[in-house]
Amino acid sequence: MKIPFLSFSSRNLDLKSESLKLFEDFFDSEYYVLGKFTKQFEEDYAYFSQTKYAVGVSNGLDAIHLALKSLGVTFGDEVIIPSNTYIATALAVTYTGAKPVFVEPDEHTFNINPEQIEKLITDRTKVIIPVHLYGQPCEMDKIISTARKYDLSVVEDNAQAHGAKFKGQVTGSFGDINATSFYPSKNIGALGEAGALTTDNESLAEKVKMFRNYGSRERYYNEVIGYNNRIDELQAGILTVSLKYIEKWTFERQKIASWYFECLKNVSNIELPKIVNGAVHVYHLFVIKVERRDDLQKYLNEKGVGTLIHYPVPPYLQKAYEHLNYKRGHFPIADKLSNSCLSLPLYVGLQKEQIQYIASVITDFYDK
Ligand SMILES: *Cc1c(COP(=O)(O)O)cnc(C)c1O
Repeated sequence: MKIPFLSFSSRNLDLKSESLKLFEDFFDSEYYVLGKFTKQFEEDYAYFSQTKYAVGVSNGLDAIHLALKSLGVTFGDEVIIPSNTYIATALAVTYTGAKPVFVEPDEHTFNINPEQIEKLITDRTKVIIPVHLYGQPCEMDKIISTARKYDLSVVEDNAQAHGAKFKGQVTGSFGDINATSFYPSKNIGALGEAGALTTDNESLAEKVKMFRNYGSRERYYNEVIGYNNRIDELQAGILTVSLKYIEKWTFERQKIASWYFECLKNVSNIELPKIVNGAVHVYHLFVIKVERRDDLQKYLNEKGVGTLIHYPVPPYLQKAYEHLNYKRGHFPIADKLSNSCLSLPLYVGLQKEQIQYIASVITDFYDK
């Protein structure tokens, strides 16, 4: 059996005919930037996120960056982020001139440990960025209450958790202003690059609209040093179509995850994802912690199963962040996760027999 790590074929089947029609409409509209498709998508994504406003932008990294810009984060500030996130979270902080301050995750949920945040807050701290890693929401009640206590803003990095919920509330609606990505592999994926911000705060939404469009509210008048971070009009159209399917796709992802839990529950050399009380996980990734990770990955590959590692090197050990002067071992939980986690295939269209096959290969590996 051959099971690639990722395939879009099943999702594309849902989207194809509507997307081709949409392309024709787009093509004939002769209006290719911030037009009616963007407007529709922003309305629909705000509704999906249960926020008053959504603003489409170029990608997820730019979305986090603009969220921080809209909050006035600048040189000398500090921004708290998890030590085991994708590099984008750290880079967006660095772009503003602020310093990323890393907080260790809970090693069983992979998400930022809310109990560890407070001791890292200084009088320079401005923002906390919880990342809903792999599709599981962070414990937002604790994070928001810490933020309130110290008068900090919260920006959710919701790139991996479209539609996830914590205690009944959807991710992307907790923070002051929140960022997401629609990179093709995300749960809602564009056919290229796109991202968005969500907020209930009209003034922050207006600021982001200004920053994404050259710092201009009125054409040819520039109030601030802005950027070209506009969402691509065609991607906005495609995303509007995708939004009609996200509930169905999420349900399917959760079903596939439940097969993994069922088939892998008796394998003693691995640890399955732990779901926090009150969390609805949307399984952007199915990440297990395993013994002899690299050998298992090789074995799975020989048996036709594609896997990836999210992520092999934590941001604090990247060459790009050498100047922060951290030594290996400074964030032992991030290190441990980077050495033991393995992402198994999980995407719309996978069948139970395929999950059973993957589980049997893993079982064989440890039986040998
Ligand atoms: C994908 C991702 C991003 C960045 O999104 P891009 O659209 O690729 O810029 C940011 N944060 C996390 C956690 C991500 O997974």
